[in-house]
Amino acid sequence: MAYKISAECVSCGACVGECPVDAISQGETVYEINADTCIDCGVCVSSCPVDAIAE
Ligand code: SF4
Repeated sequence: MAYKISAECVSCGACVGECPVDAISQGETVYEINADTCIDCGVCVSSCPVDAIAE
């Protein structure tokens, strides 16, 4: 099960560079995690200043 970015996301982009498999990209409203690419490492969670990323 991949991690997900909630509507709390402020689109700061802080998580993008942290992901080892480049699974995070900018979506229409908030950033998105590609569920097929995400390896569930959890590295992005602590990079988010508004705690918008959870499993
Ligand atoms: Fe990338 Fe790991 Fe976050 Fe998945 S959990 S989006 S692999 S940093």
